[in-house]
Amino acid sequence: MKIAKIAVLGAGTMGHGIAHAAIAGGYATRLYDVSDEAVGNGRGAIEQIVKKGVELGKLSSPDADALLARLSTTTSLAEAVHDADLVIEAAPEKIDLKLALFAQIEQHAPAGAVIGSNTSALSVTELAGSLTNPSRVAGMHFFNPVHKMKLIEIVRALESAPATLEAIEEVSRRMGKETVLVRESPGFITTRVNASIGNEAFYMLMEGVASARDIDKALKLGLNHPMGPFELVDLVGLDTRLSILQYLHRTLGEKFRPSPLLEQHVKDGRLGRKVGKGVYDY
Ligand code: NAD
Repeated sequence: MKIAKIAVLGAGTMGHGIAHAAIAGGYATRLYDVSDEAVGNGRGAIEQIVKKGVELGKLSSPDADALLARLSTTTSLAEAVHDADLVIEAAPEKIDLKLALFAQIEQHAPAGAVIGSNTSALSVTELAGSLTNPSRVAGMHFFNPVHKMKLIEIVRALESAPATLEAIEEVSRRMGKETVLVRESPGFITTRVNASIGNEAFYMLMEGVASARDIDKALKLGLNHPMGPFELVDLVGLDTRLSILQYLHRTLGEKFRPSPLLEQHVKDGRLGRKVGKGVYDY
C-alpha cells in the first residue's frame, strides 16, 4: 500500500504537530479543522516550528519552503480526505465526536484509505467497528510536542490488517519516528506505566515516606527520569491524570485505584501549572 497523500483531522496541539511531521516526511498533507481560526492557528504553529528549524541550522531556507509547499489547509472535510491515502484523526477525545467524524471519513475518503487515530485512551476497535471495513484502521499514538518526541505507539485494534499496520509503520519511519506495536489495551504502554508511577508517588507522599521534592529528586538522579513524577503531573494537569487513573481503575482493576491525596488535590483546585498551583506552587 503506497501512501503519498495524508489528511490530518484536527489542527490543535497534536494535529498541527502531526501535520508538520507529515510534510517533513515528504507527504502532501491536508490539515483540516472546523473553523478558519483553528486551521490558521495550526498553520501558524507549523510555520513557527519550521522557522525555528531554519534558525537552528537544521533546515535550509529552500528546504523550509519546499516543506511548507506540501501543506494545505481546509475547513471542508470532504476536500481534506477525498484523495487521501492515509487519514490521521486528531480531534478532541470524545467518543461521539470521533464516531461522527469516522462516519464522515467513510463517506468522503477513498474506500482503500488507511485510517489512524491519535486517541490517547478511547477504544480504536470501537472506532474501527463503526466502519464497513474495520481492517483499515489502527491507532497511531503520537507524543506531545510531536516535533520533539521520537515515539509512536501503533495500536492494533481487533481487526487491524497487517497491510494497515505496515503502511502506518512505513509512514512513521518516514516521519523520523520510532515505533512500538501494542495490542489495544487501556493506556497502551506509556500511559499505563506513567500513571502507575505517578499514582505510587502520591501514595508515598500520603504515607509520609518522603517529601515531594525528595521523591522527584530520587527518580531524576537515581533512576535517570528527565522529570520527577510531581513535576510531570503538574505539567500534565492533576485533573487529567486523575481521569486517566479512574479509567485505568475501571478497566484494569484495583492496582490503579487513584491515590486519595491526588483526589484531594483536584478537589482543592490544585490542578497544576495551568492554574499556578499543583503539588508545587508556581
Ligand atoms: P486540542 O484540543 O488541542 O485539538 C483538537 C482540535 O480538534 C481543535 O483544534 C478543535 O477545533 C478540533 N476539532 C473539534 N471538532 C472537530 C471535528 N469534528 N473534526 C476535526 N477536528 C475537530 O486536542 P489535542 O491535545 O490535539 O488532542 C487531540 C487528540 O490527540 C485527542 O484524542 C487526544 O487524546 C490525543 N492526544 C493528545 C496528547 C496531548 O498531549 N495533548 C497526546 C497524545 C494524544
